[in-house]
Amino acid sequence: MPPAQPASYTASYPTIKLAPRGASRLKDGHVWVYRSDIAAADGVPPGSVVIVTDHRGKPLGTALYSSSSQIAVRLISPEPVADFEKLLRERIAEALAYRKKMVHDTDAYRLVFSEADFLPGLIVDRYNDIVSLQILTQALDAENVRTLVVEELSRHLQPAAIVERVDPRVRELENLPPRDSGLLLGEKKSTTFTMNAVKFQFDALEGQKTGAFLDQRENYYAAAHYAKGDALDVFCYQGGFALHLAPRCSHITGVDSSRPALEVADQNAALNRPRLGDKEIEWIEANAFDLMKDYSSSNRRYDTIVLDPPAFAKSKRDLDAALRGYKELNLRALKMLNPGGILVTCSCSYHISQPDFLNMLAAAALDAHRSLRLIEVRGQSKDHPVLLNVPETAYLKCVIAIAS
Ligand code: SAH
Repeated sequence: MPPAQPASYTASYPTIKLAPRGASRLKDGHVWVYRSDIAAADGVPPGSVVIVTDHRGKPLGTALYSSSSQIAVRLISPEPVADFEKLLRERIAEALAYRKKMVHDTDAYRLVFSEADFLPGLIVDRYNDIVSLQILTQALDAENVRTLVVEELSRHLQPAAIVERVDPRVRELENLPPRDSGLLLGEKKSTTFTMNAVKFQFDALEGQKTGAFLDQRENYYAAAHYAKGDALDVFCYQGGFALHLAPRCSHITGVDSSRPALEVADQNAALNRPRLGDKEIEWIEANAFDLMKDYSSSNRRYDTIVLDPPAFAKSKRDLDAALRGYKELNLRALKMLNPGGILVTCSCSYHISQPDFLNMLAAAALDAHRSLRLIEVRGQSKDHPVLLNVPETAYLKCVIAIAS
């Protein structure tokens, strides 16, 4: 074995000097530095591993540099890094070991969650025997890194296939050449996966995100405890909540504006026929805002309503409009709930904090003349860990409440 390399800042990485505001962000435990907080990055090639220093030249750690994103620096270690590839291998192994310990009752879960696993720019999800990955930064798009990631995932997991899901908008922001989604290993493009004993169809190169909303897995299970009676799952996508809640409910309706998502939802219902017995789930293709307006003005009543809209606030600027959107939906849902009815209400916008979301809900309850008692205030599943000093890693809110 070669002797371990001493940890020092002598590696031949370029140096980036931070302005005082950038340095204090890192000292406060965040891992991002914005471009405006960089004092000097002259001649640093795009996607480099860099040493970051404060304005006096004191090293603050090792980071990945992006020449085009607003997030110019993502810290990977507060220490010197002698061997970047070795660090990547260790981090991948640690991320997988964490899931082994924390994740149960599912063969679909997030294996690597970017900053929260100290691998900024890498997202990896497992759907049974298919692994789906996304690369979101210049540094991790390098050919040697891609090869290493695929090798490590295949060595640890022996999947039937590894696919890459490309987000063209991210590649544009990172000034990376366009690339198609596709297979990186193996041939298999579809499979079924099981979470909480509920089965789902998975087509690796279709659907939104990397396929399903794995971050809601534990919330599906929690919500199923309280669901009852006549239920409405609004923004149901491929039926995640509806399929979990159905056995507890006398009737359930899923609503989404996407026909392809509802077609998969219907296939999923067929996959779960033994569990569902002869219970039919009704899928309605509609704009949720229009449908909620119609239903509430025609005095429809439900015992359980789930609201899981897409992120209304894509940036801080949208915050007020987003909160108005959430309030309108929650207000209508509250008006439609029978006394004792269950509301499961979610937001996946990280710009909306948990207090913002609870304040919105309190205002909606007041306007609907309903008292709302909180049963559970939840976040994302444990395979999407939250890194406490990086608030952006905490994005999902899921409140389960009972209306009287
Ligand atoms: N609850 C789902 C995830 C919902 S994602 C699950 O657990 O899997 C948000 C969904 O909202 C998407 O399926 C999208 O098609 C749908 N959607 C977006 N805008 C909509 C609108 N105006 N009306 C109805 N559905 C909409």
